[in-house]
Amino acid sequence: MNHLIQLRHTLHRFPEVALEEVQTAARIVDFFRPLKPDQIIENLGGTGLAFVFKGAKLGRRILFRCELDALPIEDLAPTDHQSQIPGKGHLCGHDGHMAIICGLGEKLSQNRPESGEVILLFQPAEETGDGAKAILKDPRFEEIRPDFAFALHNLPGYPLHQIVMRIGTFAAGSTGMSVYLKGKTAHSAHPESGINPAQGLARLMKELPKLPKTLSHFGLLTLIHADLGSLAFGTSAGRASLSMTLRAFDQKDLDDLIEKVKAKAKAVAEPEGLEVDFSFVEQFAVSVNDPDLYRVVENAAKNLGLSLVEKTEPFRWSEDFGLFSQVCPSFLFGLGAGEACPQLHEGAYDFPDELIETGIGMFWGIMKGFH
Ligand SMILES: [Zn+2]
Ligand SMILES: [Zn+2]
Repeated sequence: MNHLIQLRHTLHRFPEVALEEVQTAARIVDFFRPLKPDQIIENLGGTGLAFVFKGAKLGRRILFRCELDALPIEDLAPTDHQSQIPGKGHLCGHDGHMAIICGLGEKLSQNRPESGEVILLFQPAEETGDGAKAILKDPRFEEIRPDFAFALHNLPGYPLHQIVMRIGTFAAGSTGMSVYLKGKTAHSAHPESGINPAQGLARLMKELPKLPKTLSHFGLLTLIHADLGSLAFGTSAGRASLSMTLRAFDQKDLDDLIEKVKAKAKAVAEPEGLEVDFSFVEQFAVSVNDPDLYRVVENAAKNLGLSLVEKTEPFRWSEDFGLFSQVCPSFLFGLGAGEACPQLHEGAYDFPDELIETGIGMFWGIMKGFH
């Protein structure tokens, strides 16, 4: 176990953010080569990696997924493995998730699955929502297209080693959305000759956050940035933009909310002669847990003697593992990181090393549940 903790600390010292995970991927390949997987797929969807362990007989293909990327946030935890890269840190615990999958690889190298295949997937760019999309788009994904997919995320605020579960939606879907208003600049002495989007922007800032209330289930619209004209006092503004994050627990609600924002923006902009346009970034699908896989995960937790808690409401944050739940029956569960652990994405956060063994045990138990 010590060497997995050391591996985690090395990954932690050299964090790489979304789509830049080249050294991290190289370190993981170095770790896996001596384990002699039956197949290694590199550069999958960018910097992604898949390691295939085959059983003697035909059977089902089970995928376990972890993430390669760190965050563009300063690591403030004064540990001996503190980040060596200014402004970047493994503050979501993806270093720990990788160590878990590496430990699972060691076990598989000693004991191949009885039947079928196990795929260990190291996915890039989870934090931006680009990674899962890129993996699924890569033609080589067909070689590892799973029958079932599993992932875990450590969860500060829950007792250490507690398993956090939910059938159906586990984590919200979300998208970044920008609304652009284009009018016409004019001399600020004659604003009536131009089309200034200021009033339209103000109306949208006031009215858009109310839209989620018109959905039948949970939805949330959070304004994150606004921009109007430029700092030129002789010029009446001719353009504006407003950016927001939309969230919902149901994919249809999220799609409805997007349409409502579009309709409202058009209704505000067009009478004022403003052109309106939209763009989307950081799109995360809703993470939906398959009810039939619940027992498999539950049994794995019980066999390890772990406490188990059922969430009544989904989490409001998003995970791009949600896209896998559109490909095959999938299950994402939480692994408690301790009540005193700083929250994910906080500068003081550091993945608890004790969870590595628990994570390996959970995935191993899940795999055994199929064979
Ligand atoms: Zn994160
Ligand atoms: Zn994360």
